[in-house]
Amino acid sequence: MNTQSHILMGAVLFGRNIPRRAWAGVLGGLLPDVPMLAIVLALKISGVPDQTIFGELYWQNWWQVTNGVAHSFILWGALLAFSFALRHRAPWWTLVSIFAASALIHTSIDFLVHREDAHMSFWPLTRWKFISPVSYWDWRHYGRYFSVFEMALGLLMAGLLFLRFRHIAARAALGLAMLTYVAVPAYFILL
Ligand SMILES: [Zn+2]
Repeated sequence: MNTQSHILMGAVLFGRNIPRRAWAGVLGGLLPDVPMLAIVLALKISGVPDQTIFGELYWQNWWQVTNGVAHSFILWGALLAFSFALRHRAPWWTLVSIFAASALIHTSIDFLVHREDAHMSFWPLTRWKFISPVSYWDWRHYGRYFSVFEMALGLLMAGLLFLRFRHIAARAALGLAMLTYVAVPAYFILL
């Protein structure tokens, strides 16, 4: 699923009206994709064409392992168990639990909607990947339907958060998130 959907979901599921928890959910929803986004950004700034980025470099071991670490059920599950066990020690352990739970939800959804581009979700135990029948983007594998579903869900979540949080910066960010649901597909279609 696209990064902005994971971010919105983190805020919707864990935020209620407590901004600190919403932020923990947002960060957990975002973090598994941060290494990938940073790599793509660095390569694009260096002028590497999209075809080389997604057709060659993405499949190299260093990038596959990076994605595996960031999307590992094992690592996020361990952090969740650890922080949940310590939640009575200090209030911020609750925030760490929310952060880890949100990242686990991100990883679970990615697990279900990736095909050959899937992550090694059980790294470091195994390099095995689940090739789902559904791809979140590939039209040959229900990607068209999933994209429409994700767009509707994303706009619904952004609308919900818009009502929940009145701060101007939050609302501006939500407006931007809504825009990405239109801008990102438009970019790939135009390409
Ligand atoms: Zn992801």
